[in-house]
Amino acid sequence: MKPIINSLQLTPHFNLREFQCSCCQQVKLWPPLVECLEKLRSLWKEPIVLTSGYRCPNHNKRVGGVANSLHVEGRAADVVVMHRYQPLFCELAERAGFTSILPYGKRNFIHLAIKNSRRHNE
Ligand SMILES: [Zn+2]
Ligand SMILES: [Zn+2]
Repeated sequence: MKPIINSLQLTPHFNLREFQCSCCQQVKLWPPLVECLEKLRSLWKEPIVLTSGYRCPNHNKRVGGVANSLHVEGRAADVVVMHRYQPLFCELAERAGFTSILPYGKRNFIHLAIKNSRRHNE
């Protein structure tokens, strides 16, 4: 099998590639982020699709992310969740250990992050 950059299974359901920046394939990952995602996956019992994990500072700027976005620190992931399932998903995300949970309603995604305990940003 030909190796692929960042192709590394981290937990039963998540691969490092899913967290890499979509513009440059660079990746930074705070380990508790994937641990909480795996825990959430077992509570949710359905696949969890990431649309954004790590973002390099340039990419973050281009997508209009706030400058101190936790995506730039590898502490945040956006996941696809249909609007009507968001209240349940948020409840499970809290149980899984996420400390920042922002549902985007009809845009059908949720921002999940683990805050840096020393600083409080989204
Ligand atoms: Zn990038
Ligand atoms: Zn986000």
